[in-house]
Amino acid sequence: MLSLHNDISYLKGVGPQRAESLQKELGIYTWGQLLLHYPFRYVDRSKVMKIRDIASDSVAVQIMGQFVSVKELGDGRAKRLTAVFRDESGSMELVWFKGIKWAKAAIQLNQTYIIYGKPTEFKGKYNIAHPEIEILEQARITNGNELKPVYSTTEKLSAKGLNSNGIAKLTRQLIEEVNGRVPENLSEEVLAKFKLMPRSEALMQVHVPSNATALEAARRRLKFEELFFIQMQLVKQKLLNTKLERGVVFQKVGEVFNTFYEKHLPFELTNAQKRVIKEIRSDVARGYHMNRLIQGDVGSGKTIVAVLSALLAIDNGYQVCLMAPTEILAQQHFHGISELLAPLNLNVTLLTGSTKKSERKIIHERLLSGEIKLLIGTHALIEPVVQFQNLGLVIIDEQHRFGVAQRAALWKKAALPPHVLVMTATPIPRTLAMTLYGDLDISVIDELPPGRKPIQTLHKSDAKRIEVFQFMENEIKKGRQIYVVYPLIEESEVMDYKDLMDGYESIARRFPLPDYRISIVHGQMKNENKEHEMKLFVEGQTQIMVATTVIEVGVNVPNASVMVIESAERFGLSQLHQLRGRVGRGADQSYCILMTGHKLSADARRRLETMVETNDGFKIAEVDLELRGPGDITGTQQSGLMNLRIADLAKDQQMLSYAREMALEIIDDDPMLSEEKNRCMTEHLSLIAQHKSDWSKIS
Ligand code: ADP
Ligand code: MG
Repeated sequence: MLSLHNDISYLKGVGPQRAESLQKELGIYTWGQLLLHYPFRYVDRSKVMKIRDIASDSVAVQIMGQFVSVKELGDGRAKRLTAVFRDESGSMELVWFKGIKWAKAAIQLNQTYIIYGKPTEFKGKYNIAHPEIEILEQARITNGNELKPVYSTTEKLSAKGLNSNGIAKLTRQLIEEVNGRVPENLSEEVLAKFKLMPRSEALMQVHVPSNATALEAARRRLKFEELFFIQMQLVKQKLLNTKLERGVVFQKVGEVFNTFYEKHLPFELTNAQKRVIKEIRSDVARGYHMNRLIQGDVGSGKTIVAVLSALLAIDNGYQVCLMAPTEILAQQHFHGISELLAPLNLNVTLLTGSTKKSERKIIHERLLSGEIKLLIGTHALIEPVVQFQNLGLVIIDEQHRFGVAQRAALWKKAALPPHVLVMTATPIPRTLAMTLYGDLDISVIDELPPGRKPIQTLHKSDAKRIEVFQFMENEIKKGRQIYVVYPLIEESEVMDYKDLMDGYESIARRFPLPDYRISIVHGQMKNENKEHEMKLFVEGQTQIMVATTVIEVGVNVPNASVMVIESAERFGLSQLHQLRGRVGRGADQSYCILMTGHKLSADARRRLETMVETNDGFKIAEVDLELRGPGDITGTQQSGLMNLRIADLAKDQQMLSYAREMALEIIDDDPMLSEEKNRCMTEHLSLIAQHKSDWSKIS
């Protein structure tokens, strides 16, 4: 019987050595995995160019002709192989600096070759370095079709004969072996609804396309399949979380909540805040486990939503913990929330890495006795020694800094899993959110508190610094405070630190004592010094805060109205947006000034333009996704989205939506996937699960 689980070494043409390399280099252990090693590009055989017509070095070209001469030049590191290649229109030079031995052996003078590569102009003539070369006859025999697949490979594999062509050959071998017997994994219903090519055919066409139309249909089918099964897993998980897993019940809205809501709420809630609180209330009353993500732009007022949710838990006799990603943020939450809740007389306690040992012990006792109602802190909260009497709700601020494993550690702190509320200020495109957080319910706070003036964003070149300093002076005279932020990238820490200190000095010269006071915060300072400087700024004792990105998240100083970002071209879009969100929190007009050098890459220019154009975090996230792809978007690293084989989250968003809707529909209709018509999908899902657990055994 055919098994895609066959060891790769059982394939004709793969011995133990090649098998080992395929495993090590590409993670290919089985036949099935080789089938899923899709080409990343195709060369159109029908487009052969004449040498005479090569006019640009921007795209790769394919030419057909013969070698006229080959010679080896230079020695040592300057060694190279050059060959003159000719077709009926003219001739050009081909060059190898590496793999000379291999190239020399591959070139025969009396054969017709197909050459593929990117031309480079040199002294008015074009040459191609390291072209792909293939004897025409062989090209025809090995792949009679017009579209030739190109596979990613590695140097080590190429050395064993498994360059792109070598892999193509193996794959064709496998396809012959398999001979259309790959089991279908989508139901009739799904195939029909989206007019998808059968799986077996798609796998064949993607590797050996008969024409462009068939290839496109094959790719569409395989992309859908990939996205669909990710969604099926997420939707199933979500069902487990929300409908099947019991959770603690917050039955009543009690005295604590009501007293606070009626007497101590410092402002009227926005409609968005009210809506989200309603969503949370209905979640926690159902008896199922809540797993909810709150997405809200910086300044949209997530904290009060967290506080009200906490009160709901406390009213029902449960404890709450709120976890922040940094010590500064935890402190700020602690101070802000303690103040808000002061009239209620609840025990709110702070626990961070720098809490003294003696204090810790007391905190641990008070948690166990149930005296502490709300514990606020950092990672220190998830240490095993921290045990609660009855933890009912976990709130995680700025989720993306916490790994999935850390979230899971909190689960284990109670008999029934506590409800989980995750708050993130990083807006992510909708389609990405449904994959990254596909197992969570999502609430969106899409409305800013009233009275905020939109932040004005300006892009200034370094040459305009004097003007910017003048602007800063005017704002300070109006009583405002200013952030000046420098990049800090780990790889260039030393240089960045120097930039920061140089910048600090020039600001200190321009804004001297005693009229001006400046705070400085950076990663090399001790925590207590950082906090001291932050405190001075928060209290308005200093007017300028010079900092690295440590202030990125959460810090709240409503009187700060100007954010100057130095070397803004070095920041990513979401980071720029986060930083900008530090201002515009008070009633005054706020500004964000992006300082850059003159020379900017096209991407950097687009980022800066986007910032100047819009304050809408979701729009910014869309551009970010488009510019960087999902790989760099925060959170994707943990999600497995990096391992997409064929779909592209930036380009295939529409398809992702369809795949999600389909998955929801199917699981809604047949939650346990036990119906016969869904059997092929159930089987595929269990294969995926099995594969996942195999992997966790290996790694
Ligand atoms: P974020 O969503 O970034 O965590 P915060 O919760 O820190 O935002 O709120 C930002 C600021 O807006 C705080 O100063 C907070 O007190 C204020 N705020 C929140 N909600 C409202 C509201 N409904 N009306 C007025 N001010 C509000
Ligand atoms: Mg916040």
